[in-house]
Amino acid sequence: IKWTEGRGWHDAQLVPYAPLSIDPANMTLHYAQTIFEGLKAYRQPDGSVATFRPEANARRFQASARRLAMPELPVETFIEACDVLVRQDKAWVPTEGEASLYLRPFMFASEVGLGVRPANEYLFLVIASPAGAYFSGGVKPVSVWLSEEYVRAAPGGTGAAKTGGNYAASLVAQAQAIEHGCDQVVWLDAIERRWIEEMGGMNLYFVYGNRIVTPELSGSLLPGITRDSLLNIAADLGYEVAEGRISVDDWKRGNEDGSLTEVFACGTAAVITPVGSVKSTRADWSVADGRPGEVTMRLREALLDIQTGRAADAHHWMHPLGD
Ligand code: PMP
Repeated sequence: IKWTEGRGWHDAQLVPYAPLSIDPANMTLHYAQTIFEGLKAYRQPDGSVATFRPEANARRFQASARRLAMPELPVETFIEACDVLVRQDKAWVPTEGEASLYLRPFMFASEVGLGVRPANEYLFLVIASPAGAYFSGGVKPVSVWLSEEYVRAAPGGTGAAKTGGNYAASLVAQAQAIEHGCDQVVWLDAIERRWIEEMGGMNLYFVYGNRIVTPELSGSLLPGITRDSLLNIAADLGYEVAEGRISVDDWKRGNEDGSLTEVFACGTAAVITPVGSVKSTRADWSVADGRPGEVTMRLREALLDIQTGRAADAHHWMHPLGD
């Protein structure tokens, strides 16, 4: 679908996957006006297909567009575009378990020009790719590196938007995590370098027995849709759930005195991943016994049960596509 100043959205098309041809002066290549989303379509027990919370992705896409001075795509148009593609590719939606069809809606400036200003032309596209279960030999905890040198986002920046630049800026810190023998980078706040924000492409949750806390939306972390879903599911299951601030010292102390029983990360790709150990320039420690915790696994099952249609959809999150 195209957007042109003065004309709005026009010319929706369903076309076979193919390379795009890009002008060397395409404004996105220079000034990075680009936003995206990620969501999944799951096969349901009766053979039909449903996407998980596309409206939430559509709204976050609008928020990202506002931050990047791009035009907002109507929620219905976003959902309709995803629906049309999933219907076309229905045969590619896996038939079993956690596997899914991953959808990648995205928008970028398509105008040609060298001036730094919001573009007057944009393209919105959706592509799809089958995604297998994230963990093939069982759920495995990740090790994390606390990034003290680099920050992902600062107050007033683009951290709460899903825009390419945030990911480009994170690559060097993720490489550092790997160099230190860790799987993933965990980001701290930009001002005090003390408050836990999020992990790579996932939000974090801290489990203190029956009480579950996730870092509050500070403005510089991405408001994850899995994070939001789990706030609801954890409350449904009777846990005491809160959004709050957790410092590096809280995390370390909690694992030392045993009050912090589990830590996990959540996002569309892996749904939920346990965190098993932490490394930083100051200290290394293990999260409880380093194994997937009971609450983590219970929440993971509960969310996947809704997504795959094994449990009732009490929150009306599933968007059925019919036949
Ligand atoms: N944080 C970042 C930086 C991400 O890229 C993602 C993945 N979209 C998340 C958190 C988790 O968000 P969601 O649950 O919507 O996938």
